[in-house]
Amino acid sequence: VIGHLAMREDVPLRTLTTLELGGPARAMVDVEREGDVREALAWAEASNLPVAVIGSGSNLVVADAGFPGLVLRVGLRGVSVRRGGAGDVIVTAAAGECWDDLVAQAVREGWGGLECLSGIPGTVGATPIQNVGAYGQEVAETVTSVRALDRTTLLVEELGASACRFGYRESTFRRSPDRWIVLAVTYRLAPGAAAAVRYPELTQLLGARHAEPTLEAARTAVLELRRRKSMVLDADDPNRRSVGSFFVNPVVERQRADEVARRAVAAGVVRSAGELPRFAAGYGREKLSAAWLVERAGFPRGTTRRAVGISSRHSLVLVNHGGASSADLVALAREIRAGVAARFGVLLGPEPVFLGFRSPDPVSA
Ligand SMILES: Cc1cc2nc3c(=O)[nH]c(=O)nc-3n(C[C@H](O)[C@H](O)[C@H](O)COP(=O)(O)OP(=O)(O)OC[C@H]3O[C@@H](n4cnc5c(N)ncnc54)[C@H](O)[C@@H]3O)c2cc1C
Repeated sequence: VIGHLAMREDVPLRTLTTLELGGPARAMVDVEREGDVREALAWAEASNLPVAVIGSGSNLVVADAGFPGLVLRVGLRGVSVRRGGAGDVIVTAAAGECWDDLVAQAVREGWGGLECLSGIPGTVGATPIQNVGAYGQEVAETVTSVRALDRTTLLVEELGASACRFGYRESTFRRSPDRWIVLAVTYRLAPGAAAAVRYPELTQLLGARHAEPTLEAARTAVLELRRRKSMVLDADDPNRRSVGSFFVNPVVERQRADEVARRAVAAGVVRSAGELPRFAAGYGREKLSAAWLVERAGFPRGTTRRAVGISSRHSLVLVNHGGASSADLVALAREIRAGVAARFGVLLGPEPVFLGFRSPDPVSA
């Protein structure tokens, strides 16, 4: 015990991640108060140990050797609500709150802005890290500020939305992975709003049900769509040990997308170049579907290698079938990346964060 912090040694991280892979942390501490964060950092500094921050481990790949430092698990709790200008509701949630509980609360209260992000595992504090998104919505649309401790100065700062520099699965936090510890996130929500029904699959499901696009209807539909793809945590689902999508959708220059389409025709994957799924991403760039590329590069759902494989319900989801190693998972990811590069000339980048590996990105290294 250091001060009132309960430090633990040699703590298995496998059980703290959804992939259920990887070795132990040299030391670990749960922080439940902001002051504890500084105390834990001071202890690590004095002990000459590197520090890693985790929430609920749903976007983490831990190396088989574990992490040779202090893992700080953020468990800060509390949600406060106030009225903003123009009738908005301003919700501030501490970093350790469960993300889906917050979404459920917003939907129940009739506050629009988070409904399509239903069913995403993890904590509130992780949502700004990769600008969590799904079904046409992302947190960048509602985050107004992030309260975070700067590890380089040990000062707490309130970063406004522009300082967060959100992009597709990107933010200032992700770009400087060892700098910020998120303490709380503030979202601006819209009472009485209709659901943001933009994603074709969601539009279709609500249409087929003749359902009004209420927040509740959108949440129910999103949860149903996610369940069909094993994208909610479910203890009975054989595809459950994953980090959700393993690769991000590549964003490429238009000419590169044309080239991918030509290669797809040449490889006999499609009959005409127009069949390549591609979506405008602004500034002359286009987003390609990583799932489509993976499948068409010869990696169908259900592919298995040793004790890892591709989910039987989603070609972007890599799964630990039980008893696998992180090395197995990284090897499969590298094989898929190389296969997609060879067939289409596109390099896929991984979505999860890697802990304890020699490289910050062992899949691309
Ligand atoms: C079945 C499944 C489906 C998923 N679907 C989606 C989806 O639709 N969209 C999506 O965007 N993601 C999805 N994910 C990924 C994941 O749920 C999110 O990235 C989530 O935000 C991670 O939260 P976490 O608390 O588990 O973070 P962790 O996995 O513990 O950490 C992830 C990263 O965030 C950092 N971090 C966490 N908390 C803090 C903090 N307080 N301060 C600083 N850094 C912090 C960690 O250092 C690490 O770099 C899915 C995952 C699974 C398993």
